[in-house]
Amino acid sequence: MSLTNSVSPACNDTSACGTCASGVGTSGAECLTTPYRKTFSVVYVEEAALSLPRTRQILAKLPGAEVIRCRDYREVFNRPHQSPALQKHAQALILAVSDRPRLYPGAPVCQDFGNERFYYTSDVMNCVFDCEYCYLQGMYPSGHVVVFVNPEDTFRELDTILCDGNPRGVYVCISYDTDLLALEPLLGFVAEWITYAEKHPTLTLELRTKAASAAVLRALPVSSRLILALTLSPEPVIRAMEHHTPSLSARLALAREAMDLGWKVRLCFDPMLAVHDAVTVYSAMFDEVFSALPMERVWDVSVGLFRISREYLKEMRNRRPCKVTYYPYELSEGVYRYPKAVGEPLIALAVERLAQAIPRERIFLWDDTDCSEPPCRNSD
Ligand code: SF4
Repeated sequence: MSLTNSVSPACNDTSACGTCASGVGTSGAECLTTPYRKTFSVVYVEEAALSLPRTRQILAKLPGAEVIRCRDYREVFNRPHQSPALQKHAQALILAVSDRPRLYPGAPVCQDFGNERFYYTSDVMNCVFDCEYCYLQGMYPSGHVVVFVNPEDTFRELDTILCDGNPRGVYVCISYDTDLLALEPLLGFVAEWITYAEKHPTLTLELRTKAASAAVLRALPVSSRLILALTLSPEPVIRAMEHHTPSLSARLALAREAMDLGWKVRLCFDPMLAVHDAVTVYSAMFDEVFSALPMERVWDVSVGLFRISREYLKEMRNRRPCKVTYYPYELSEGVYRYPKAVGEPLIALAVERLAQAIPRERIFLWDDTDCSEPPCRNSD
């Protein structure tokens, strides 16, 4: 069944303000939904989600979108013979109700920043950005974005963990299989997580993002419970491989603003990629980072090389043949990695440059040498 979404628009501006996509928009709160009117012109809604308040709130921000009812989101998301790479050019939004809490223990090989009780959530599957190296292309059969509109079930599951009598803190990454900050004007999930975390003093959240909208950040309450983890890449890598993401200068401007507002800011140099003349390219990026940011105010940094499980890369090669998927990686214990001669100079460069700007104990190096399981994902 198809019907036109007749909810009144929040904004009549039909031009792309770029606020969410590029981070350079200057418009106010009313027009923050504009990019999504262009991105999501089709919305599938599970019958079980139709009457839920979050569904109505999301649809209200997508006036004019064609709304199609479905019985189960898997009918759309899991159907065979899809092309996630092509679907990125015309992504549909799928609103669904998860039949289980979407909170998972972090795999031992994922960067846990020293946190023993480490979890991640997946209330959103897929991303509005389009990075050629993104592991989601190997993980999901579709490029469409699924939003589970019942995150309260995830909160309830987390309640039981936080109240289990264990005094050690709990660390939850809330933006793993998506970019939640880029979707914040549409979903408001980050604000909900902050509200939840403020009531739980032993909970720390990590929000990983490539988004760079200062307007979106300013609309959120500053919280000491959340680490804003900004992924930084050299500008040539962004232009060649991280499609629709903000520039390095826009991300650095957001990092600076976030620090000024009082957020804990983590800088993520992960995944580093063995592009042409990589040491020179990454060295120039570190110059730009150090000249833009007061590094003494950075909470911590993470560093890691691109790595991917055999299963994901096999799917990615089928779905998106490109330089990064067809690089001659070395396979070891089910994981493709750069040969040591290629990867080690990049890591050495990052550690040497970062150690000049930030105490060594605040540099987290993704190191899989002791791990017996393949990594589930790259960290963003
Ligand atoms: S790598 Fe991160 S930002 Fe890029 S498409 Fe994947 S989830 Fe989105």
